[in-house]
Amino acid sequence: MADSRKRLVIATGNAGKLGEYRDLLAGTGLELVAYDTDVQETGGTYAANARLKAEAASKTSGLPALGDDSGLEVDVLDGFPGIRSARLGPTQKERTAALLERLSGRPRPWKGRFICTVALAVPGRTVDLFEGECRGEVVPEWRGEAGFGYDPIFLVPGTGKTFGEMKADEKRQYSHRANAVRALIASGALDRLSG
Ligand code: IMP
Repeated sequence: MADSRKRLVIATGNAGKLGEYRDLLAGTGLELVAYDTDVQETGGTYAANARLKAEAASKTSGLPALGDDSGLEVDVLDGFPGIRSARLGPTQKERTAALLERLSGRPRPWKGRFICTVALAVPGRTVDLFEGECRGEVVPEWRGEAGFGYDPIFLVPGTGKTFGEMKADEKRQYSHRANAVRALIASGALDRLSG
């Protein structure tokens, strides 16, 4: 039987992010379609990059599309790596090692935040933007193997755990991406999608 649900393209090639979107949007009744736009992140802000990805995916597919851009900002490094978070190295191990190397010798706690901007591009409509953050602390050693990116070195205050030590449903309570998606859902923008 054909799937009659409304479709929403998720513009990412990151399996970790995609899994989180499937989980976060499960209650919306939308059929999610993954599409990696391969666009260069040439924007100077999270919002500009999120918009680039969402618009490219929407234009190619003719469907509503969600794009995001996210990063980790460490206070003592003046917000580094920020929008360059994906570019600190080719692998997760190398990226976390590069960040910890920059931090070594600096006084702890290494406070900071994850931030995520989500862009919703719908053909014929202006792009909507939603932001979420999660404050926390970078720790000097990997703790846990769950999640992706900097999850194993990001401690969430009050939980005693890094994102790397949390199951998906626990990360969802705190994460920047979950907060951005909650704002998107609360806006009603997804209810106005046409089939
Ligand atoms: P982008 O949003 O595709 O530019 O990627 C941002 C980078 O920030 C990712 O490759 C990760 O390294 C990091 N990042 C973003 N969100 C998360 C998260 O939820 N956990 C861990 N790392 C993240």
